Amino acid sequence: MADGSSPRSEAWLERAAARADPDLPPRVLPRALLADVLGHARECHPEECCGLLVGTEDSRSWRAVRCANVQSARRARGDSDLDASQAFWIDEQQLLELLGECDARGESLRAVYHSHVDTAAYLSHTDLDSATTTDGQPLWPGVAHLVVSAWGDGVREAVWFDWDPGEQRFRGRPAQGG
Ligand SMILES: [Zn+2]
Repeated sequence: MADGSSPRSEAWLERAAARADPDLPPRVLPRALLADVLGHARECHPEECCGLLVGTEDSRSWRAVRCANVQSARRARGDSDLDASQAFWIDEQQLLELLGECDARGESLRAVYHSHVDTAAYLSHTDLDSATTTDGQPLWPGVAHLVVSAWGDGVREAVWFDWDPGEQRFRGRPAQGG
């Protein structure tokens, strides 16, 4: 069990900038939507998957848009030390095109999702750096982050992180299909 008391289990705690808060109620997402994201995470294992949740205000309208994880290409260019099993990166051009399509359909970006490979679902320091501006504010106000823990034998958990303006930080809660 990776989350026990072995030295390996503590390694992820050091990488975690935010994790699920046991005091918060779960974030309920449409069952088919969550299943789509978890399926994407399983298919991409042993690499991280990534994508967007887009839709109108009503979460029943949301859909998952799969993106390519171009992190290994970034590493090959020397832009990062991490490969696609350790991090994700959505191609900037693809992201702009997708956001333009959403806008044309009257949809907004609601969340960015990605998976973690063989470790827990937390917001890593790398994830937090990508999700915030240099002064520590959310890069996309109102946009949540959904992280899925994917292992060789399947998905173990999904955690929803949204920005708490009072506490000035992302807070995580378990994501559940409902
Ligand atoms: Zn991550």
